[in-house]
Parts: sequence; structure tokens; C-alpha cells
Amino acid sequence: AASSGSASRTSATSRASAAPDGGTRTAVVLFTADLRVHDHPPLHAARRSADALVPLFVRDPAVDRAGFAAPNRLAFLADCLADLDGALRERGGRLVLRTGDTVAEVCRVVRETGADEVHAAAGCTAFARAREARLRQALEEHGCRLTVHDGVDSVVPPGDVVPHGSDHFAVFSPYFRRWADQPVRAPLPAPRTVRVPEDVASEPLPSRAAVPAVSPGLAAGGESEARRRLRSWLSRHLDAYEDRHDVLDDRAGDGTSRLSPFLHFGALSPTEAVHRARAHGPGAGADAFVRQLCWRDFHRQVLAARPAVARDDYRPRHDHWRRGKDAEADLAAWREGRTGYPLVDAGMRQLAHEGWMHNRARLVTASFLTKTLYVDWREGARHFLDLLVDGDVANNQLNWQWVAGTGTDTRPNRVLNPVRQAQSHDPEGTYVRHWVPELAGLEGAAVHEPWRLTGLDRAGFDYPDPVVALADGLARFRSARAAD
Ligand code: FAD
Repeated sequence: AASSGSASRTSATSRASAAPDGGTRTAVVLFTADLRVHDHPPLHAARRSADALVPLFVRDPAVDRAGFAAPNRLAFLADCLADLDGALRERGGRLVLRTGDTVAEVCRVVRETGADEVHAAAGCTAFARAREARLRQALEEHGCRLTVHDGVDSVVPPGDVVPHGSDHFAVFSPYFRRWADQPVRAPLPAPRTVRVPEDVASEPLPSRAAVPAVSPGLAAGGESEARRRLRSWLSRHLDAYEDRHDVLDDRAGDGTSRLSPFLHFGALSPTEAVHRARAHGPGAGADAFVRQLCWRDFHRQVLAARPAVARDDYRPRHDHWRRGKDAEADLAAWREGRTGYPLVDAGMRQLAHEGWMHNRARLVTASFLTKTLYVDWREGARHFLDLLVDGDVANNQLNWQWVAGTGTDTRPNRVLNPVRQAQSHDPEGTYVRHWVPELAGLEGAAVHEPWRLTGLDRAGFDYPDPVVALADGLARFRSARAAD
């Protein structure tokens, strides 16, 4: 299959060059997790084939019931919708918002406008695929054509590169080699004009004030912000990415791009991000950044092939995760950032405050929960999804599984030591002191081991003792795994 990312699948109904009554051809563009006008294959295709467009977003309660909605993401979504509406208005159009079942609402808009085609982006989750199948069937009954576009949410669509004899790659490195060889299509321009039929009713867009985030330091969303950030981050920080992406005590917070929420909501096209990074390169920074973007596609192709991994172990290891009161108490301490391990607590507090966490801290906090505390990865993944503004079924569940050893990591028994990780990735202790202000009085790397303080020194800090000694946690994990 073509991996340029521009492929599309169209339902059987034949295509006419003008509306059957000789009037205006109208197309509905269904926006889901693709909230942008640049490099948007469905919008581009619809604009080329129809005279009038209905850019539609449906607030579907089923999305909330499926656990995809969370206050931080709803707040960010409000920004994205407002920005998309603004971009469409600049082009003469607007965004139409409806609430209800997506399939029913699309059909309603098709009936109201006499639209003869619907364009939408392919999704990789079981939820998105089931919705697509229902939509296809319902639109066929209306005699309306559905075109589902690949390569909107990923650079190389799931299933486009597969190893011999399998429907997906289970190991990242060989996937990356094949992925990197694929040609990447040029990003599509935003349409210059968009004409929306006047009489199509829309609900008012939600304002960010009406959907308050739970994290006070949540970033602003929207395509304009995504494009501004992409441009400025690439020009100022891409070259240093290879060296700085794992540095936690990065005061400016620019060691990594922080583009993940924009990519999650599709306010930024991953194809355009790859294209622009490569255009800025060549260099180790651009190569490393593009490789990270490949991880998104890697997880998407695993999830598309094995939808159950959102819940079930990818490689079952028959773990007997700790349960009961003690495990509950440890889980609560982890969630609240009071495990007594400063780096773990710093990461968890960054998550609570910003709805985002540095990747190195995600790795350490997840390893601590699933290995040192030996608590089920599903508990951690749920907490992350409740707070992460980039919370994404493919990336979250599969990264959690990777760390827990039930996923695609080829070294499933590796355990990250939070003290050694802190010493390597936050050598001066800046990150920890910022997020754990109780320890701000401890200088340098001493902040990573407050339990070494004795007597009076220790009494000055209102900070918990470690929930478990690292050696005991490691022994418990190893004996559980040995019993497997
Ligand atoms: P950068 O370093 O600038 O990387 C650029 C982009 O590459 C990111 O925006 C992201 O889209 C992608 N990327 C980078 N690392 C990974 C990775 N390991 N897996 C997949 N894509 C990656 N990422 C999410 O987008 N959503 C999640 O819900 C999520 N949950 C995670 C849970 C755990 C336990 C772990 C260990 C990682 C998780 N990640 C998740 C991956 C990674 O931590 C974030 O993508 C990254 O921290 C985002 O910051 P950035 O945009 O500055 O990344």
C-alpha cells in the first residue's frame, strides 16, 4: 500500500460530478482528532470535489463514556475548537457543532443540507473503527458517499508497513527502519476559502472558561499555537534535542517540543512535523526527533492490529499484581506525589499541575508503580489518562505496557532506580526542587536522597519517608517474576 499517507477508502456508492439535481455539491467534513486546517486530507479532498462544505464537530457522549474525556483534555479541546472555528472564519466559513451520537448527527446534517459526500479521518482505536463502520452503513442507506482518509493522524498509516507473515511490528527498531524508508508526502496547504451553507444550525462552541481544567498550569491549545510552537521550537531547540531531550532540570522546559497535546488533538499534523524537522536538518537533533515521532506510529499500528491491548496485556506474563489495603495505600501515595522518592513525587506533581509530564519522569514514575510497588499498570494508566492533556489510548496504554514488561519492550524485567535516574537526568536537583518545594532547602544532588539526613536536619523537612526500601521493592518484583 502507498505510505505517502494520502490514501483514502471510499464506500461503494458511485461518484457524480455534480449534485443529482444539478445544484450545489455539498460535502460534510467530520472533524474528530484532527482539529486543523493545514495538511488535512479530508478537508483538502472535500474542498476539491464540492462547492460547499459543512465542517462538523460532534460532541458525542459516547466519547465520555468510553473514558476518552477528562477535564484537562476538554479544556484543551475547547481551545482547539475555537481556533479551528477562527481559521475557518478567516476563510469565509465556520465550524458547525452538534451534540449527540456522531453517526446520527452526521446523518442529520446530511439530510438537512442534501450533502452527497462525507469525508473523515481514519482512527486507530476500536472505538473509532466501530464508529466508522456504523457511519459507513448509515450513509449508504442515505445514498451518501463516505471517504475515510488515512495518514491524517499518523505519518505511515497502520498496516502500511508490516513484517513478513504478520499484521504489525512487535519490535520498534525493525519497524523504524522500514518506516524511515517510506516516502513522506508533502504537507497539503490549508484551503484558501471555505463556503458553508448559511442555514446550517450550530450550537455555540464551548468556551475554555466553561470547561475548567483541573491542572492550573495547563497549556493553551489550538492549531495557531501548535504552529507557532513548532516553528519556534524547531528553529531554536531542534539541534540540541539529541543531547537535551532526557534532561529533566531544563529550566526553560524546551529540551523537548511539548507538541504531544497538539498531536493528540490533531491540531498539528505529524506528517508536517516530520517534514519540517527534516527540512530543518540534517543533523542528530532532527534524526532523534523524527525517531520519537515514529514511536507514535509504532504504537498506533500495534493498537490497530490488537485493539484489546488498551485493556489487556500485549504479552501476558500472568502477573499477580498486589491488591488490597497496602497496595491501595501505596497507589494513593504515588498518585499524590508523596512516595518519599523525590523524583517520583516531582513527576507526579508536575502531572497534577500541568496535565503533562516529561518523558523521563513518565518512565521513572511508571517503573516505580509497576515494578518497585508492583501495582497493576492499568491503575497507573488510568490515573495518567485522567490528567494527561496528551492522554492517548495508543501512546499511553502501550507505553505503560512497555514499562510494565507486558508490552513491546525487549527487556521486560528492567527496573529503573529512581535515585540513579535522578542523579543522571537531574544532576543538580533543579527539577525536584521545583516540584517538591518541601525539599527546596537541600542543595545539589542531596535533594534526591533526603532519608540520608539525620536527626535535627531531617526534622526541618515535612516530607514522607520512602513507602518501601528500593531493595525490598526489587526483591518482591524479582520473586514475583521468578514465580511466573
Ligand atoms: P518530544 O520529545 O518532543 O517528542 C516529539 C513527539 O514524539 C511527542 O510529542 C510524541 O508525539 C512523540 N513521542 C515521543 N516519545 C514517545 C513515546 N515514547 N511514545 C509515543 N510517542 C512518543 N505520549 C502521548 O502523546 N500520550 C500519552 O498518553 C503518553 N503516555 C505515556 C505514558 C508513559 C508511562 C510513558 C513512559 C510515555 C508516555 N507518552 C505519551 C510518551 C511520551 O512521554 C510523550 O509523548 C512525550 O513526553 C511528549 O512530550 P514532547 O511532546 O515534548 O515530546
